Amino acid sequence: MDNLKLAGNNGTKTTFKVGNINVGKDLVIMSGPCAVENEEQIIETAKAVKEVGANMLRGGAYKPRTSPYSFQGLGEEGLQLLAKAREETGLPIVTEVVDVHDVDLVAKYTDILQIGARNMQNFALLKKVGQQEKPVMLKRGLAATIEEWVNAAEYILSEGNKKVIMCERGIRTYETYTRNTLDLSAVPIIKELTHLPIIVDPSHGTGKRELIESMSLAAIAAGADGLIIEAHIDPDKATSDAAQTITPAKLGEIIVKVQKLKTSLD
Ligand code: PEP
Ligand code: MN
Repeated sequence: MDNLKLAGNNGTKTTFKVGNINVGKDLVIMSGPCAVENEEQIIETAKAVKEVGANMLRGGAYKPRTSPYSFQGLGEEGLQLLAKAREETGLPIVTEVVDVHDVDLVAKYTDILQIGARNMQNFALLKKVGQQEKPVMLKRGLAATIEEWVNAAEYILSEGNKKVIMCERGIRTYETYTRNTLDLSAVPIIKELTHLPIIVDPSHGTGKRELIESMSLAAIAAGADGLIIEAHIDPDKATSDAAQTITPAKLGEIIVKVQKLKTSLD
């Protein structure tokens, strides 16, 4: 891949601060619900995931849904609720932007802009997030090759934004037992090809809450810089992605184990 002018491995790992977290160095644990549903849900979930050791809060205010009739997210109200959750917990927030016209608005509220799998090759959106200052978490596309994914990162970097986090979230294969096939080989590959930090999303990567712990441990063993895990105060009542959503208590157990593993690897 000799077309990587900026993302290519130059021997110096990219690290940057988000709040007091040093991304690329500290173990990043983003957690929270798939979607922001209401004030109580996001505030209570934020407090609960912080309590068990998460260091960033996730939650979608704009949801890219397969069906137009599914819950599409609360929009700006969701962003305001996330900001309120940050105020109450101190956790930096990460939330998705789905439309090029919403980038400035989402960037005004969030600490990290998430580009979802379905938008990984939305080049206008990549350029726009590359032109603003907030860090960007770039999810791998549903059927994207490594080459397509790192080139998507190159689009952001080439517009001037050097704060990019790669996120492996599973790809579509012939296997249907899991929602996606979590490609953990992407972790050492991205580290070999680029200087960017990479985190793993075992929630969308498997679609099954009983697989989150094992895949989280496997991701850290593979060298991931962090995890993004869907958690909810009442997982079965989650409006979206309930089957892959865990309780804060379970998240706490996973965090203890991954931290132990990470320490043993350092
Ligand atoms: C999400 O993180 O809520 C999400 C929609 O993920 P993905 O883009 O990976 O499907
Ligand atoms: Mn989700």
